[in-house]
Amino acid sequence: MRMSNLYMPTLREVPSEAEIPSHQLLLRAGMIRRLASGVYSYLPLGYRVIRKIEQIVREEMDDSGSQELLMSAIQPRELWEATGRWEDFGPEMFKLNDRNTREFCLGPTHEESFTDMIKGELKSYKQLPTNLYQIQTKYRDEKRPRFGLMRCREFIMKDAYSFDMDEEGLERAYEKMWKAYERVFDRLHLDYRIVQGDTGAMGGKVSHEFMAMSDVGESLVAYCKDCSYAATDEKAKVVYEISEKEEEVLEMEKVHTPDVTTIEALTDFFGVDPSNFAKALVFMVEEQPVIAVIPGDRDLNETKFSNYLGVGSHDIEMADERIILDITGADKGFTGPVDLKEDVRIIVDSRISKMKNLVVGGNETDYHIKNVNYARDFEGEIVEDLLLVEENDTCPECASELKMDRGIEVGNIFQLGTKYSEGLNAHYLDENGKTNPFEMGSYGIGVSRSMAAIVEQFHDEDGLMWPLNTSPYGVIITVININNEDQMKLGEKLYKDLKSMGVEVLLDDRKERAGVKFNDRDLIGIPVRITVGKRAGEEIVEYSIRGEEGREELEEKEVISLIVDLYREEGMALKNR
Ligand code: ATP
Ligand code: MG
Repeated sequence: MRMSNLYMPTLREVPSEAEIPSHQLLLRAGMIRRLASGVYSYLPLGYRVIRKIEQIVREEMDDSGSQELLMSAIQPRELWEATGRWEDFGPEMFKLNDRNTREFCLGPTHEESFTDMIKGELKSYKQLPTNLYQIQTKYRDEKRPRFGLMRCREFIMKDAYSFDMDEEGLERAYEKMWKAYERVFDRLHLDYRIVQGDTGAMGGKVSHEFMAMSDVGESLVAYCKDCSYAATDEKAKVVYEISEKEEEVLEMEKVHTPDVTTIEALTDFFGVDPSNFAKALVFMVEEQPVIAVIPGDRDLNETKFSNYLGVGSHDIEMADERIILDITGADKGFTGPVDLKEDVRIIVDSRISKMKNLVVGGNETDYHIKNVNYARDFEGEIVEDLLLVEENDTCPECASELKMDRGIEVGNIFQLGTKYSEGLNAHYLDENGKTNPFEMGSYGIGVSRSMAAIVEQFHDEDGLMWPLNTSPYGVIITVININNEDQMKLGEKLYKDLKSMGVEVLLDDRKERAGVKFNDRDLIGIPVRITVGKRAGEEIVEYSIRGEEGREELEEKEVISLIVDLYREEGMALKNR
């Protein structure tokens, strides 16, 4: 491609809404443009990257035995009604009507449509296992679209669905996808961790997330510093140690605590450890108040809480002060589980039920109650673990210590079980002529989000630094002075020769100053650079690699041999080489 013809609208200034490097650099390099909040266009250079990521995903999916097809983004309401997700998906779903007021959604994911498609077609156990995938545009009306391609309302996903006879079959399918995902993310050169994920609203028991590690990632990962345990903060099991010391159960006592509302202030006031307090948090869950009671020194894990309640996270919100006053008779900060004004559902972390002589809010403004004990003084529904993991928590597997890191969720695999096949009545006949629902798995890769993740891991202050196999072009030839005949001639020759080898190459033949060309070359991050300048008459060019120190003055055949080596190392085919 000649850069004099390339549509590459670079920007000097970064729009202020762009907060993270991938968002800033992809905009600056003219690779993406925003059309509306969370809605982006991929411009020529950016779209080439997308297609390369798609191709890597496609090759590994095909290699794993999955078959590609393409479904519509438009899905009828009835399918989603059948699995209960028309409601459950909540406000993230884009809904629309046709001219006859029939209702549809723009697919946020495709479990329902794939299940419906194979229903009645995959009939016999002899046709199993089957695994199908597509690379397609998804729609989610995210609460906070942000960070460019990271969290969009329209994005590109590879989604695959497996259909098996039984759980063992599903486990094998899951393992295959796991391996395919490892190959995909290895080939994308991402530094990633595979971590246990929450299955939440998707259904099923087992899920793993592939996290590209990055300080700007929106996901938090807890991992053990000594063993292989790793989980998202939503999923990570919290080991919370309660002091086992023998303690006498004391009488409850109401204590005047004016203005003492924070845990720090309470610790000072009562002269005890924060773990002696119980926090009571009031939520509105589908319009009903529900109180969560957890140790005072910890935070509530809202995913565990909503999973226990069997509702989506969008169905839960903190109660406002008026509701708190109605329920407790007190201002915010003095809520406790004892003597509530109204009969409210109380959900208790199991550790609270074992702790003695707790300090809790008094349900009267400026009062707390001390020596509160579960069962004697209040009761609720006990849930084993409602807590959010913290750095240095005990590893649930090996009792060593957990560390925390940030990641970008680029892939997610689920063992779904029979939620969708049962909901949609999708069955097969087994060897004995008996009908059974399919055991299903679903497997997603964020293609457009992976592009942002690559940028987060491969950039510097000057711009992008694409790995060779996802770079929009492999090589850029910069002709310093296009009015110099020797330079233009040599540039053109290299351009032609590289193209004939199947190298994707850019020729910077623009009427621009050398400085502008060098800056753009850094910004768009093409890995292999050939500069044609003052030694063009001797057929000598300068060869360098983006992000690496040093440059060499070489003849064409030496340059070509280096390029051939690079492509070979990356496992990329060239013509006749
Ligand atoms: P998140 O927790 O980040 O909202 P999710 O768990 O809802 O993502 P999945 O349903 O697992 O997402 O979708 C599969 C993959 O699609 C994700 O692993 C992610 O890479 C990508 N993805 C999901 N939501 C978005 C989005 N809003 N923008 C870009 N990519 C997304
Ligand atoms: Mg996910």
